[in-house]
Amino acid sequence: MSSIADNIGSVTRRIQKATLQAGREPNSVSLLAVSKTRSADELREAVAAGQLAFGENYLQEALDKIAALADLADIEWHFIGPIQSNKTRQIASAFSWVHSVDRLKVARRLSEQRETGLPPLNICLQVNINNEESKSGCQPDELPELVSEIGQLPGLNLRGLMAIPDPEQGESDLRASFRSLANTLKKLRQEYPEAGPLDTLSMGMSGDLEMAVAEGATWVRIGTAVFGARAYKS
Ligand SMILES: *Cc1c(COP(=O)(O)O)cnc(C)c1O
Repeated sequence: MSSIADNIGSVTRRIQKATLQAGREPNSVSLLAVSKTRSADELREAVAAGQLAFGENYLQEALDKIAALADLADIEWHFIGPIQSNKTRQIASAFSWVHSVDRLKVARRLSEQRETGLPPLNICLQVNINNEESKSGCQPDELPELVSEIGQLPGLNLRGLMAIPDPEQGESDLRASFRSLANTLKKLRQEYPEAGPLDTLSMGMSGDLEMAVAEGATWVRIGTAVFGARAYKS
């Protein structure tokens, strides 16, 4: 079995190779280690190997790990799971980034509840890019209104878009989904220059990061290839 440090090394090489092949700047893609179901000790191993950005899906599990790792001041926490609006206060105070904002109510609450001593919370709007009934995320046609409203909220820094495309679709449809998200971001940046940097595309996971990087990903969210296969408790 390979170690977490080895895995981080090979994922980093995959990202570098894909970035090079796409003719992009070497530092334009960052690795978000998705650490849901992983123990605080496993995260310590990743930190020892130089990984500082972690993505968590479940709030209580995340808060436990944030407390357990409070001695590691440089960790950057990203919330990437579905958001219940009664949980926004804890998310707004414990995280630096939220990739999964998909409605105005949640954005308003995060902005109001972000403490003024902290920098604005970086957020991405999650888009239901393949129109899947079961998936969270806004519809693409809701984006203009969301971007123009959320772009004005003082506690938030609107960084871009996130999607989890249907992994069952064929390779060319998957690529088209990534490309569509990238084109959507480009258009929004032109139409709403005041809304925020809009410089971020959170897309690509363990199985498809090369394709996502080729289509412009700036954060790839990698769980399995960093920590190994997940065993969910039933
Ligand atoms: C679990 C998860 C990932 C990581 O998936 P892997 O296939 O294990 O790399 C990425 N993004 C989100 C939103 C996730 O929930």
